[in-house]
Amino acid sequence: MSTRATDAADTRKAARERQMRRRRRRVAIGALIVVLLAALVLLVPRVILSTAAVDAAPAGPGVVVGGVYERAPVAQELPVPQLAVVAAAALCDEPAVQAALAARDDEAVVEAAGGGESFRAAVIAGAAPCISLSDPARRWVVVDKLRPLSPLDYEPANLGSLSQVTSLNGGHLRQDADAALSALGAGAAAAGVGDVAVLSSYRSYRTQVSTYAQHVDDEGQAVADAGSARPGYSEHQTGLALDMVACGRGCGGLDDFGATAQGQWVAQHAWEYGFIVRYEDGYMGVTGYESEPWHLRFIGPALAKAYHDGGFHTLEDFFGLPPAPDYAG
Ligand SMILES: [Zn+2]
Repeated sequence: MSTRATDAADTRKAARERQMRRRRRRVAIGALIVVLLAALVLLVPRVILSTAAVDAAPAGPGVVVGGVYERAPVAQELPVPQLAVVAAAALCDEPAVQAALAARDDEAVVEAAGGGESFRAAVIAGAAPCISLSDPARRWVVVDKLRPLSPLDYEPANLGSLSQVTSLNGGHLRQDADAALSALGAGAAAAGVGDVAVLSSYRSYRTQVSTYAQHVDDEGQAVADAGSARPGYSEHQTGLALDMVACGRGCGGLDDFGATAQGQWVAQHAWEYGFIVRYEDGYMGVTGYESEPWHLRFIGPALAKAYHDGGFHTLEDFFGLPPAPDYAG
């Protein structure tokens, strides 16, 4: 073979090889495209299906509405309440909660639970069997017309005279409530709204027997029940409740309190000291009582903060309890 012939053959060979390489490349690219398409065909429906499965998943934790446990609507399924409930599930297993309960340090219990809102969520979810809303010695006790004290003639321990705020009738409060009241009184004075005093604080079962009987005598039972608790059904018997009046040269009465500078300040700031205005205007259908801007109930700063921040108006709603507009019998 001549050199030219050899060159020509080499050239043809090289051309064939280039053609083969191009063909292999096209085949490889084609195969890659087929694989990618196959992957798309296989994976996309799964992604769509799994998204649909999330959408169709059953509603998460339920909520207690008016004492009835209901599935939470999808719109309410925000991550925060779910997390709170999850955290709450183990609340009673938390060593810090157990220790605080044993020490009867209610504020530490709520703090160990992760704060007032976590505590509330746990109780509402039924995830805190170690917390009883019926224990009259606890700051979270709920007393209303469907929830009498137990025992009916319960007497609190650690009652004391009021240390800072004037008591017009020489009354007593639980010492933790009194300390908070002292701070509230100082806060009102510092805010420049004037002095406050306490007209009525702890009332024993025995006292309530005569107080209620007097109301019934004066007003008839229906009117008495709208404004005064039957014996064993009064928050005053816990040592955690008080009726406040405003004082200037003298002290006003209960009915005046809501309109005074002190009354308005208390409505806005009592929670900062651990108190709530227990019977607000417009909630008689839940609490069973007409508006009483003077009646403060101590629940402790952590719970009062959650109550305020959550925009609650009744302790019944706060703890997911049924409305108590009237006595059961
Ligand atoms: Zn009262």
